[in-house]
Amino acid sequence: MKTNVKALVVGGGAVGTSIAYHLAKAGWKDVMLLERDELTSGSTWHAAGLLPLFNMSFATTHIHKYSVDFYKALEAETGLNAGFAVVGNLRMAQTDERMDEYMLYASTAETCDVPYEWLTPAQIKERWPLIRTEDLKGALYHHTDGYINPADVTQAMAKGARQHGAVIERKWQADAFHWNGSAWEVTCTKMVEKGGNLVASDEQIVITAEHVVTASGNHAQTTAKKLGIKIPAIPVEHQFIVMDQDPALVEYRKNGGAEHPVVRDADAQSYVREERGGWILGVYEKNAPAVFEYGVPDSFRADLFPLDLERIEEQYMAMIHRVPSCEESGLKDDFNGPICYTPDGNPLVGPAPGLRNMWLAEGFSFGITAAGGTGYYLAQMMVDGEAEIDMASLDPKRYGDWMTTEFAARKNEECYDHVYILHHPDEERPACRPLRTSPAYDRQAARGAQFGWVNGWERPNYYAPMGFNDHDSRSFRRGGWWQYAVEEAKAIREGVGLVDATAFTKHIVKGPGATAFLDWFTTNKLPRVGRINLTYALTAHGTTRTEYTIVRLSEDEYYLVSAGAWTEYDADYLRKAIEDKEAEFGRIECQNVTTQWGVLAIAGPKSRDVLNAVIKDAEPETALSNKRFPWLSAKRIELGMCPVNAIRVAYTGELGWELHHPIEMQNYLFDLLEKAGEPHGMKLVGARAQNWLRMEKSYRAFGTELGRDATPLEADLPRFVDLSKDFHGKDAMEAHGIRAKCVTLLIDGPSDADPWGREALYHGDTRTGRLTSGGYSVAFGKSIGMGYVKPEHAEVGTKLQVKMQDKLWNCEIVEDSPYDPANATIRKDG
Ligand SMILES: Cc1cc2nc3c(=O)[nH]c(=O)nc-3n(C[C@H](O)[C@H](O)[C@H](O)COP(=O)(O)OP(=O)(O)OC[C@H]3O[C@@H](n4cnc5c(N)ncnc54)[C@H](O)[C@@H]3O)c2cc1C
Repeated sequence: MKTNVKALVVGGGAVGTSIAYHLAKAGWKDVMLLERDELTSGSTWHAAGLLPLFNMSFATTHIHKYSVDFYKALEAETGLNAGFAVVGNLRMAQTDERMDEYMLYASTAETCDVPYEWLTPAQIKERWPLIRTEDLKGALYHHTDGYINPADVTQAMAKGARQHGAVIERKWQADAFHWNGSAWEVTCTKMVEKGGNLVASDEQIVITAEHVVTASGNHAQTTAKKLGIKIPAIPVEHQFIVMDQDPALVEYRKNGGAEHPVVRDADAQSYVREERGGWILGVYEKNAPAVFEYGVPDSFRADLFPLDLERIEEQYMAMIHRVPSCEESGLKDDFNGPICYTPDGNPLVGPAPGLRNMWLAEGFSFGITAAGGTGYYLAQMMVDGEAEIDMASLDPKRYGDWMTTEFAARKNEECYDHVYILHHPDEERPACRPLRTSPAYDRQAARGAQFGWVNGWERPNYYAPMGFNDHDSRSFRRGGWWQYAVEEAKAIREGVGLVDATAFTKHIVKGPGATAFLDWFTTNKLPRVGRINLTYALTAHGTTRTEYTIVRLSEDEYYLVSAGAWTEYDADYLRKAIEDKEAEFGRIECQNVTTQWGVLAIAGPKSRDVLNAVIKDAEPETALSNKRFPWLSAKRIELGMCPVNAIRVAYTGELGWELHHPIEMQNYLFDLLEKAGEPHGMKLVGARAQNWLRMEKSYRAFGTELGRDATPLEADLPRFVDLSKDFHGKDAMEAHGIRAKCVTLLIDGPSDADPWGREALYHGDTRTGRLTSGGYSVAFGKSIGMGYVKPEHAEVGTKLQVKMQDKLWNCEIVEDSPYDPANATIRKDG
C-alpha cells in the first residue's frame, strides 16, 4: 500500500469518490481514497437517487447542473451504466405563492442555463393522467433531470478514478492527522469485522499526504474531533417508503404511457417516483430527530433506523390524494437513514478553518445530486487554486468558533423540517435564537426591532409597531415590512437614522511588518495616519476575497473592518497570509476584536446636530466640522462618557459617522444618542433600508457584487486599485481583463414587487447578465438593482430588461452613484 501521496481523500461515498475522480482527472498523480468500510456504505447506498436541479443558490445550482451533465457522460467513459433515468422533475404548486417561489427560482435557473418549462394543471393531466390536478395552480418542469442508482454512479466514478490513476483502499480508517509543516501524516488503522461490527485492528500505517480531503458523511463529528476543529454537519433521520405495484400504474405503462417524472408536491412535503410498477414516497416531515451528535457508533454500519410511520402519516395521506390509484398499494419496503445536514442546508466545501492543505467536503443532504459538481469545483480549488464559480456560500468557515453541537443539531433539524416550506427571500429561521446579541438588543426589541440573523448575531432588519408579525409579512413580492423600510430609508435621506452595525468583522493588525504586509495584501494605497481607505484583498487568482475599510491608527497599527457575515472566513485568510509573510515583512500581530467593539452608525443630514449635542470637546461646535473631522478620516472622540473611535463614513451614502465603541458601553451610548436624537426625529433603522440606500450610491456589497468570481476592476472599482504598486493577485487580476462589468440599474418593475438580486438581465434577445442585488429606491421612487452584464452592454444609458415573475421589465443602466453622484451630502460641512 502506498504511504506517500499527493492527495488523500477520506471517505468513499458518492462525494469522496467524485473528488478522487476529479483530482485524478485534473492530472494529480498519487491520489488515494480511503474508505473505512465498503464504498457507498455510508448514506450513499440508501439514497433515493433523485437529482433535483432546483436550487435557490447560484453556486449550488451550478454544482447540481454539472453533476447531471457529468453522470450522463460517465457510462461512455467507464462502461458502467449508473441507471440514470432522465424522466424529468415536476414541481407542483398548490398556491399562487408557491408559483411566485418557482418564478423566483426560475431566475436562478435561467442565469445558470438550467432549462425549465411551465405546465398548467391541464397539461399535467394530459401527460400523466394518474395525477390529481384540480387543486393545482401549475408546475415547474425540468425535463433534463431524474433519478439515478446512487451505488452504481459511485462505482462508475470509482472506476473512472482508477482509470485516471487514483488508488482506492477499503477497510482503512483515517484516525489521526498531524501537519508536519509541509504535509499531513495521517495515521490509518486497518478495520476488521468482529461480531457484525466493524472495529479497529492493531494494524496501523502512516500515510504522508500533501493534501487531505475529508468526505466522511455521517462521521463528520468524529472527523472534527480528530482535526481539532468544528464542523456543523450532523445527520437527521430521513425516510422514504416503497409501495407495492399500483395496478393503474402498471396498466398505464402497459398502454405506452411515459414514465412519470419525479413528482414533487412541495406543499405536501413529499416527492414521488415510479419504482417497478409501484411508487416511492419520500417525505420531509416534522420532528425528524438529529442523530449521531457525538459520532456514529461502531454498531451502525450500512444500517437503517426503524420506520416511523406515524411521523409521515400526513404526507402519506397527501400522496393518496395526489395519486389516488395508489390507495390500495401495500408497503413493500422502507428506508429510514441518516442524512447529513448543516444549519443552512448547504454543504461545507473548501479549506478547513485554521489548517493548511486540509479540505472539507462535509454535510451533504443532496449528496448524490451534488457529488459530481462538488468533485469538479473542489478539484479546481485544489489544483488551480480557485474554482470558476464563487464557492464562498459553501465555505466551511461561514460558521465561527461560537458554533456548538447543540446549535448544529437543533438548526439541522430545523433545516430538514424547512426543506419544503415557502422559501421567501426575506425568510428568517427561528431555531436557536437569539444567540449572539449586541448589548442593545433588548432596547431594540422593545422599540419593535424585527431581527435578522447574521453569522449568529441578531441584527435589526427593520422596526415595526409592537405586535407586528414578521413571519406573516414575508412575501416573494413586497412584504408587509416594506413600508417600514421605506420610512427608515427616507429618515436617513431627509433627517437622521441610527443603525446597529455591531456584527461587522474587526481586526487589529500591527507591528513592524504590518505596513509592508497590508500594502502587499490589499489593492489600494494605504491611508495616512488618521485616515481611512476602502480596499480589497484578492485571491491568488486576482478576484475579490475580502473588502476592507482600513483605518490607520498609527504608523504601524491598523484597524480593519469587513463584512459581519464573514468573520471566520476573513480571519482565516488574514491569519494564514500573515503567517506566510511575517518572515519577509517583519513581526506582525493580528487580533480579531469583533466581539470587543460595538458599532452604531448614525447617518442623515441631521446626524452632525445629534452628535454635536453630546460630544465632549473644548470646542464642541467645530469638533465634527469638515476642517477638524473631514470625510474619510477617523478620530478618537468622547460622546458623553463613552470613548468612541469615530469614522466619518456611512454605508448609506449620507453625512454620517460609524461610532466604534467598547461593547460594554453600548447601552450607555445607545441611550445617549437616542435622547439626543429625539429633538431631530431620529429613527432607528434596520439592515433592509440600509441595503436599499447603499444601492442608490452603487456601493458594492461583499457576497453579492464582490466575490471570488469577479475582480475589483470587473466590479468597476478602479479607484480603489493602485496599479502603481505590486499587490497579491495583481497580475492574475489584470490577466482576466473585463469579462463582465458591474452596473447599477433603475427598473420600471411591477407595482407590487422589487427584484431580489437573482434575476436575469436581457439586452434584446440576448441574456447579458444577472442582478446580484435588488430593492427599492426611495430617492427615485422605483426599483433599483445592481448586477453584472457583458462589457459591451455596460454603457450608462443602455436599456436592458430584467426578468421578474416570468415577465420582462424595462430598466436602464445609470451612472454609478445615481443618488448624489458628487458626494455633496456626505461632504456637507457644519
Ligand atoms: C433515505 C435517504 C434518501 C436520500 N435520497 C437522496 C436523493 O434522492 N438524492 C440525493 O442527492 N441525496 C439523497 N440522500 C442524501 C445522500 O444519501 C447523501 O447526501 C450522500 O449519500 C452523502 O454522500 P457522502 O459521500 O457525503 O457521505 P457517505 O455516503 O455517508 O460517505 C461517507 C463515507 O466516509 C467513510 N468514512 C467516514 N470516516 C472515515 C474515516 N475516518 N476513514 C475512512 N473512511 C471514513 C464512511 O464509511 C462512508 O462510507 C438521501 C439520504 C437518505 C438518508
